[in-house]
Amino acid sequence: MRIGVPKEIKTHESRVGLTPTAVRELIAHGHEVMVQKNAGVQIDLGDDKYQCAGAEIVESSQEIYARTDMIVKVKEPQPAEISLLREGQVLFTYLHLAPDPVQTKGLMDSGCIAIAYETVTDSFGGLPLLAPMSEVAGRMAIQAGAHALELDQGGRGMLLGGVSGVPAAHVVVIGGGVVGTNAARIAMGVEAHVTVLDKSIHRLQQLDFQYGSRINTIFSTVDALEEHVLSADLVIGAVLLPGGAAPKLVTREMVSRMNRGAVLVDVAIDQGGCFATSKPTTLANPIFTIDGVVHYCVSNMPGAVARTSTFALNNATLPFVLALANKGYRKAMMEDPHLCNGLNIFQGRLTYEAVARDLGLMY
Ligand code: NAD
Repeated sequence: MRIGVPKEIKTHESRVGLTPTAVRELIAHGHEVMVQKNAGVQIDLGDDKYQCAGAEIVESSQEIYARTDMIVKVKEPQPAEISLLREGQVLFTYLHLAPDPVQTKGLMDSGCIAIAYETVTDSFGGLPLLAPMSEVAGRMAIQAGAHALELDQGGRGMLLGGVSGVPAAHVVVIGGGVVGTNAARIAMGVEAHVTVLDKSIHRLQQLDFQYGSRINTIFSTVDALEEHVLSADLVIGAVLLPGGAAPKLVTREMVSRMNRGAVLVDVAIDQGGCFATSKPTTLANPIFTIDGVVHYCVSNMPGAVARTSTFALNNATLPFVLALANKGYRKAMMEDPHLCNGLNIFQGRLTYEAVARDLGLMY
């Protein structure tokens, strides 16, 4: 199979779909790989490294899309990229279609086969291709939140861990999955007071068992959310309804009653966000303030630590890329229902129920 790796064009996005190691693996299995010039240059994966691995370096994204059977990338295709997709071409990347009717329509019109990283499943009930980026985003959420809490960012002027004689900040994490657990872990590491809310008793039990008295676990209800969000210094939004739009758990009214200078980090913004006041921001311009509450709503947080993220992502995606290339998409998906769960669009038809429901489209 001919596999193409375009350079990412989303603002401040420097991750790459395949590392040189992954390219070498594909070539060892008899495939051809084309990588766009300078695709990995910003994370010290120069063209020479890809050439050593056996890739062909190609000047333009137009050529990559025109000459390959499968595109492997990182972020959802931007409008200029959607227009390059061909009928029957496989697109394997993050899509996050639920809050994005324009992209959904564009991909349907292209006739491509779009397999979304974020809806591929595993036999433990997890999302193995979302998990590595969720680990990164969860850990970064505390870093981003700590920075936003600084006075000159509009924050409360608080240090997360406090100091002797001065209390630590109250960090509230909504959703105790992969993002939430990693955020909580880093927040505990800097000695903040940490509360995690989840509606899964099982998740709360696991967190309680793992961290004991270092963490406060709370069953998520409207009442509990209101109580903890209003007293928080930093709130991390980390909920997920797989494939669907994030529920708006923090209302406009709650935001208006929060501590002045408190910070909301909406990691779930890629699924539309879980705070009513959230709107997507970029790594170049990550924060805005509403009612004195600082919002950080970057939809591609792992892009800020693109080198770590690229390697983590490739570790998880490579077995699936190999399966798609070795067997072809039909056989690969028929033999692996977990990979098949990644199929969101098949040649003009929307094939993922939660996306169809959220967008009010036929499935
Ligand atoms: P996950 O499935 O591991 O965890 C989600 C958790 O949310 C689950 O434990 C679930 O029980 C909980 N939840 C669902 N509804 C809830 C509610 N009403 N109240 C409290 N908890 C609730 O998902 P994850 O991998 O941690 O991802 C979380 C979000 O972060 C997703 O939207 C994901 O797409 C997003 N994400 C964003 C970035 C970014 O750059 N912004 C990066 C990675 C992941």
